[in-house]
Amino acid sequence: MPSYNVVPLQRLIENFEKLPGIGAKTAQRLAYFVLNMPKTEADDFAKAITDAQEKIHYCSVCCNLTDKEKCPVCSSATRDHSSICVVETPRDAMAMESTNEYKGTYHVLHGAISPLNGIGPDQLKIKELLVRLNNNEVNEVIMATNPTVEGEATAMYISRLLKPLGIKVTRLAYGIPVGGDLEYADGVTLARALEGRTSL
Ligand SMILES: [Zn+2]
Repeated sequence: MPSYNVVPLQRLIENFEKLPGIGAKTAQRLAYFVLNMPKTEADDFAKAITDAQEKIHYCSVCCNLTDKEKCPVCSSATRDHSSICVVETPRDAMAMESTNEYKGTYHVLHGAISPLNGIGPDQLKIKELLVRLNNNEVNEVIMATNPTVEGEATAMYISRLLKPLGIKVTRLAYGIPVGGDLEYADGVTLARALEGRTSL
């Protein structure tokens, strides 16, 4: 491959190889594609990456991703702010949105309790959730963590924390296979899981 001698091209290939699901061959194909882009498009592409990195941060309320102080859900007057759906990742919140059934707000933990991987409650956005519950506006917390060992442990941990506060805690009734990922569940399955949620 001539690219061995062309350092910038090699660097581009190596960067594509770091992306999930991209093997060596695909990385080469993408690098050559980028190389042949019109300059304005290539600049736009590079800027999209740096902009996303620089401008996106956590919502000050729910810890979902946003480029504003508050995300669109938290700043919306039409959402039900008495309901919080707790998810592991921003992509899980996006999956719940795709049901078009849920009108409440979210809280993104950015992970799940996993002692094997050294992830304890302090590494998750649980403190931020507790702060939100202090204002008496919240009636229900829906635990929508994944139906995995870690997701279940996280749901149980948080429900135990919330019990003394007298807040209703529910869990999605999963039609999602155990060990599955919320992110990959289809909208209909998730809508049913939401509808059939049970008290914890
Ligand atoms: Zn938010």
